[in-house]
Amino acid sequence: MRHINIPIFIPHMGCPNACVFCNQRKISGRTEFDIHSVESELERATKTIDYDTSEVEIAFFGGSFTGIDRGDMIYLLGLAKRYIDMGKAQSVRLSTRPDYIDGEILDILSEYGVTDIELGLQSMSDKVLLASKRGHTSEDARRACKLIKEHRFNLVGQMMIGLPESTLTDELYTAREIISMGCDAARIYPTVVFCETELCDMMQSGGYTPLTMQDAVKRSAEVLCIFAECDIPVIRLGLCAADNLFTEGTMVGGAYHSAFGELVYSELYYKKIQEYIASHGLSDKISGRDVTIYVPHGETSKASGQKRANKERLRREYGARDVKIIERDNMKKYTARVICPDR
Ligand code: SF4
Repeated sequence: MRHINIPIFIPHMGCPNACVFCNQRKISGRTEFDIHSVESELERATKTIDYDTSEVEIAFFGGSFTGIDRGDMIYLLGLAKRYIDMGKAQSVRLSTRPDYIDGEILDILSEYGVTDIELGLQSMSDKVLLASKRGHTSEDARRACKLIKEHRFNLVGQMMIGLPESTLTDELYTAREIISMGCDAARIYPTVVFCETELCDMMQSGGYTPLTMQDAVKRSAEVLCIFAECDIPVIRLGLCAADNLFTEGTMVGGAYHSAFGELVYSELYYKKIQEYIASHGLSDKISGRDVTIYVPHGETSKASGQKRANKERLRREYGARDVKIIERDNMKKYTARVICPDR
């Protein structure tokens, strides 16, 4: 079945917080939100769907859904439930913050057919949460995840790379915590600096240095590696223009690339290739030889990298002559084997 996601953007409404990196009113370009337009949005989106071949998910995203006005929340959930009852949607997903989760809210979400909850955890380091003015602690995140799993929802943990005060160690710790708190999937977002945010002021006054693209890619690849080792799918890497969460002209710093995910996958494959070379004592044997890299089925372009960057790196850093990438069945995702025949 084809999976169709109907995104319903719920702007900043109801969120009294002011995370230093966020300015959703600006980045969405919408200061007004007409809740009654959601019904026609759903109607329009579902009109042309072939239900014999498609599964439909309604996704409320963009703000802190469970923190909005309770009447508005029930109204939106009621609409989604009607589409589920009519057979026009099969699941409902929403995003929110850890401190807007409690038993009563989760009971309401269950009653209305919500299946997936995405939690903006961002970091599990209290030092980073404080510096980012998130307004909740890592303990709030632990409590929320536990409750969500007890209520049997699918749970997605969203985390950020390169927040104020954050180091690679904090980010690896956050990924491990996301796994140990029972998240079924994760999203990784490198920090992007938007204009008219506190983070922008911090950057301009020298109190915050955004990550370079190269560092953001490297750190995200390390974090992706943690999730991959535990078979936790990462369903998004980097902001996506199509999500309507920002416009490119509002970005003033940080790591935004329209193909950020591809850069990270490629970095991870290069790391795996390097690890294989080191652990099999091949470092000094590659120079001047043809090298074959085995990768899992369907992963050739990720392993080659954009514009074959990884093949070039192998030539440059190890002196490889020709580099061939061959797909093999039965290999785990994000693994690589390097074959370098003896002379
Ligand atoms: S909680 Fe979410 S919506 Fe509210 S300020 Fe922070 S990032 Fe923005």
